[in-house]
Formats: sequence, C-alpha cells, structure tokens
Amino acid sequence: MGMTELFGSMVFNDKVMEARLPKETYKAMQKTIKDGLPLDIGVANVVANAMKDWAIEKGATHFTHWFQPMTGITAEKHDSFISPKGDGVIMEFSGKELVKGEPDASSFPSGGLRATFEARGYTAWDPTSYAFIKGNTLCIPTAFCSYSGEALDKKTPLLRSMEYINKEAMRILKLFGNEDVTSIKTTVGPEQEYFLVPKELYDQRKDLIYTGRTLFGAKAPKGQELDDHYFGTIKDRVAAYMADLNEELWKLGVLAKTEHNEVAPAQHELAPIFSTTNIATDHNQLTMEIMQKVAKKHDLVCLLHEKPFDGVNGSGKHNNWSLSTNTGVNLLEPGATPYENAQFLLFLCAIIKGVDEYQDLLRVSVATAGNDHRLGANEAPPAIVSVFLGDELYEILESIKNGTLYNGKEAEKLEIGVDILPPFPKDNTDRNRTSPFAFTGNKFEFRMVGSTLSISGPNFILNTVFGKEFQLFADELEKATDFKKALHDIIVKTITEHERILFNGNGYDDSWIEEAEKRGLLNLKTTPDCLPYFIKEKNIKLFTEAHVLTETEIFSRYEIILESYCKVIGIEANTMLDMAKKDILPAVSAYSKELADTAIAKHSLIKDCACSYEEEIVKEISELTSELYKAVKALEDAVDKATESDVLKLALYYKDVIIPAMDAVRTPADKLELITAKKYWPFPTYGDLLFGVR
Ligand code: ADP
Ligand code: MG
Repeated sequence: MGMTELFGSMVFNDKVMEARLPKETYKAMQKTIKDGLPLDIGVANVVANAMKDWAIEKGATHFTHWFQPMTGITAEKHDSFISPKGDGVIMEFSGKELVKGEPDASSFPSGGLRATFEARGYTAWDPTSYAFIKGNTLCIPTAFCSYSGEALDKKTPLLRSMEYINKEAMRILKLFGNEDVTSIKTTVGPEQEYFLVPKELYDQRKDLIYTGRTLFGAKAPKGQELDDHYFGTIKDRVAAYMADLNEELWKLGVLAKTEHNEVAPAQHELAPIFSTTNIATDHNQLTMEIMQKVAKKHDLVCLLHEKPFDGVNGSGKHNNWSLSTNTGVNLLEPGATPYENAQFLLFLCAIIKGVDEYQDLLRVSVATAGNDHRLGANEAPPAIVSVFLGDELYEILESIKNGTLYNGKEAEKLEIGVDILPPFPKDNTDRNRTSPFAFTGNKFEFRMVGSTLSISGPNFILNTVFGKEFQLFADELEKATDFKKALHDIIVKTITEHERILFNGNGYDDSWIEEAEKRGLLNLKTTPDCLPYFIKEKNIKLFTEAHVLTETEIFSRYEIILESYCKVIGIEANTMLDMAKKDILPAVSAYSKELADTAIAKHSLIKDCACSYEEEIVKEISELTSELYKAVKALEDAVDKATESDVLKLALYYKDVIIPAMDAVRTPADKLELITAKKYWPFPTYGDLLFGVR
C-alpha cells in the first residue's frame, strides 16, 4: 500500500464520510463537527450504519466507546455488532449505540464523586474526533460522565475549556475587526520521549514490571557523559521499531513526523505534526498505547515513565501550544502589519499574565509522583514556573514598557498599532531548553509535562487560564473609548506588573532558585506541595466561572491525584521491599559466604595466606548488608504506619517519610551491586538495560 492510501486507512474521516454518507447526512455531520451542533438521532442512525459497514469491510467485529477515565490511560469495553435475528444473527449498530454508552463507572477513580452520586456513568460520542479501527474493534471517541453530569474523565474538561477559550478569544478578535473569523481552536504538538529496553532484561526486573522504573541500580561505567546519543545514528533494531510504529500510527491518522535519539542512551523521541488540542490528546493516548504494543513485537519494552533510570535524563512531553483561527491564522505568529502585531502583543501579554497569576495551576497540571523526579532535577525545567521570550522579544517589551528606543537594528520607538515590530529571530529551541514555558517563535512550549501524563490536564488548565485573561482584557477593551490608548495601557501595565515571571537565563542554575524566591515566584517541588493550591479560592473561582470544572469536580480531581500519588509510592515501596528481601539480601549473603569459604579454604591450605580480597570484600559486604537490612526493616515499619485517613496528610507522609526511607534502602543496595560478582547479582544492571539494544 502506498503512503497516501495507508495514511488514515483505519479512520472514519471526512473523506470516508463524504464517500459513504448520503449528502444530507454528510452535511449534518460536518455542521456537528465544525460548529458543535447536536446531531439528531435520525442522522446518528445513518452515520452508525455507514460506520458499521465500513468497519466490517476492514475486518472489525466489535465496537467500543473509547474513553479516558481519570486513570490517565484509555478504557474500552467491547461489544460485538451481532444481534439475533430468527435462527441466526445480523450485524447491527444503531445511532443510539453510537451516541451513548453505559459502562459501569464504579471501578474507575472518581475521588469521592461515587459516594455522593450514582455509581453509573455514561459515555457520549465526541464527533469532533474521528472514529477509528484498532485490532478488530471500531473505536468511538467519547466523553465519560456520571449520570448527574459530573465529568469522570479527562476529555470533558478539555472540551469545555476549548469552548471557553474560543468564546473569549473571539471577543478579542472582534475588537481587532477580524470579521472573517468565526471560531478559534487551540493547537498542540506533543513531543513524546521514551526509552526502549530489551524485553528479556525487562522481564527480570520486578521494579520495571510493577512500577515502570528502576528502584535499584548503580550507575553504569558509561552514561550520557559523551553526549554521543543525542541525534546519533539510530540503531537498526530501533529503526525497525520506529518504521513499524510509524506505519501503525499513520493507519490511525496520527501525523507522526519526526523521530530521533534523545540525550540518554536508549532514549528516543517521537513528535507528531500539531493538531487541534482535542485530537492531539486522543492521538497522544493512542501513540503511547501503540508504542508499547509495537515494542513487544520487536522483543523490546517501551518505558514511558518520567524517570526510569537514576542519573540519566528522564522523559518529558513538550507540549507545544498555540491558537489558530478557522481561517488558518496562527494567533501567536507575529505579523507583518502593525495591526497584526498589536493583536499578537495583546495575546502575548495575556499569556504572560496568565502564567504569572496561575503559576500554581501550571505546576498542578503536571503533578504526579513520577514527574516529581524530573522537575527540579538537573535535566528538566525546575518546579519554578517562568516564561522564556528570548532576548530580542524581551527587549521589545521592555522598550514598549519604558517608552524608550528599542536597541535592535531599527532604533525606533514602538507605538502599538502604528509600528511594525522589529524582526526578532525565532528561538531554535536548542538555545534554551531549560525554560518551563518558552516562546519558540510562533507557539509556546510547555516543557514541564511528564512523559506518561495525558496532555488533557495541562491543556485544559492552559486553555482556562488564558481564556480568563482574554476575558479580562476583552472586558476592558470593549468599554474603552480610545481603543488604541486602552490597548497601549493594557500592554504596558501587564509588562510592568508581570515581568517577574519573565526569565531568559539558565533554569538549571542554582542562582535562579534564589532569584526566583526574591521575585516571589513559587517553587512547589512535589505533588503534595502543590496540590493544595488546586483548591484555593481563586482557582475554584477560575474553573467554575469558566464552566470548565464545578467545585465538586475540582475536589474530586484533587483527591484522585493525591490518592494516586500515595498508591504509586506505596507500590514502589512494596516492590523495593520484595526485591531487597527476596533477591538482593539472599544474593549478597550467598556471595559473602562463597568468599568466606574461599578464605577459610585458602587459610587451611597455606599458613598466613594473604586473603585481603576475600576478607575485605566480606567485611564490606557484611557492613552494607547490615545497613541494608536495617533500612529494609525501617521502610517496612514506615509502610505499616501509612494509615492517615486525610489524603493530603497521607501524601505528605509518603513524601516526608516513605521516600527518604526508600532512599535509605537504595543507597547500600547500589553500593553492594558494585562489589558483588556478576553471577550473584539477581537482575540486569543499568549497563545491561541502557546499552542492551544493539
Ligand atoms: P523543534 O521543537 O524540534 O524545533 P518544531 O518547533 O518544528 O520542532 O515543532 C515541535 C512541535 O511543535 C511539533 O509537534 C510541531 O508540530 C509543533 N508545532 C508547530 N507549530 C505549532 C502550532 N502552531 N501549534 C502547536 N504546535 C505546533
Ligand atoms: Mg521542541
């Protein structure tokens, strides 16, 4: 199959709809997709039937409402198309089945919603994201809600936030006279990082199996010191994997575009071409799933965890974010006319203000136990939120603020709405990879997102925060008598009040932590540190006024995130205990016995025999073993005492007591690994894992 036939061949997309639906039905569908108009059941029946016929031709036998519960991964419950008729069956799929499903909601995380509301939930078709076939199943993208209407999933608030930001951005666009524009959408291109390790080695590590990351492991003799992996030649086995992966993704209409080796050995990246946020989110979920599936075919395992290995880079998901009109204009593209520039500056200022006022929420949007390892470590943007604009754009804003000359090539004073912005180079992303929120020429790159995370959370928060700022600006500008003056004043005021959030320097530098503190910026290092901000009054007000989350939904999500934090660390602690007690301690004990026996044998054979190797190592092993055993008992005790009923207190306990107790177990264990004979060490090492794919 040629590329053009292959791409989207498993997607019930516009082309298929146009070819297979009666004209009237097709038009009704387009209206629904483009303008969000509800679909009547008559139309849904026709669409469902056409979908079923198409799916059966492609080999599908089942259908499922595909949804994104708060677990962060996708869920599906398969039903077959068959329906009894006389003595046999016919293949059926009704409009009702397409539009609405009723999976049992009681087994998905609901953060207390279950206690107060009915356990049942329903899934509702999201016609803005195309149906597709995976395996033998027709998958229908859906939102997942409780019967009383509370969102139980990741898609619902995202769709609500897109509606909100559309409404508010349109008000701004109207003020600038964009009569041709009828709607805007947020766009996202998520760059996905991941590790590949050989499956036979993965299978020997309980930590990878149960937790997705290594809980033990001494540094390999070689890590990423030589920088020889980044953009390096892709090994044949990895190249074959990537080719296979691309093909599977293309069939599903995912615009997988670039792939390269990342900084750490065994680490890679896949970036799609950006699309509407809602679709980008669905596609990223699919991408993560297919990545893992295809890896198995190649006897590899794809690790999506944020920090699979200590001491080498972790994995993130750079969330490239922008706004685009239905006429195809990117609103973060500085334009060629004064009016385009003024509009660009206003959007830019709204974003700067939003990031400053809602730093806490941006941090909350990426909070997970896994991602905490990355944020603040010397590899990812620190937990402090700031905005990178690049020197040139920063200077332009400064000269606007101060009413002074811009020092660039054109030494001129900038009058908003009259002058064209002086040209400034696009950041080529390598110039500053340390900023958590970087302007890269015509979009912002939010780099704090973890590699496993659904991008829905970060994006519905970005959309709501910026939607709010657009709303406030529109309120002010709509009532202004002198538009140009009001615009100028807003821009100057925003830069003056919020320039503390602008930082072009090195975000990894320790001096930045001090400087940020002086500026009054937040530094919320961990999930339990930042989650209380989620339920602050100003944030509840933000979400409820925007109709993105109700107060109940906010509290439910707050609980789910903290509960999941505790569970993840609890599982890690138990896995550590299991590995230490059943594998490491017996192994080092056996090895020291062999050394001791050898020493005794040597002594009995030769009087005053020199046995310094055996004796010293036995001594060292014995000391470390005792230290390890003590730490194991302490961790066991700490785990037993994790009984707080308040979820925030429990999370803080995991952070302040369990994590340090886990570190105390790991330290002697990793030292033991370095002095234990290879044949005694119970699992593959970092060297094996990181350099095992050849
Ligand atoms: P790099 O960051 O490697 O220089 P690019 O900047 O070209 O590469 O793109 C990185 C990601 O940003 C890609 O997924 C790309 O599709 C996405 N992207 C580009 N333009 C936009 C936009 N207007 N909105 C959202 N994402 C975008
Ligand atoms: Mg990039």
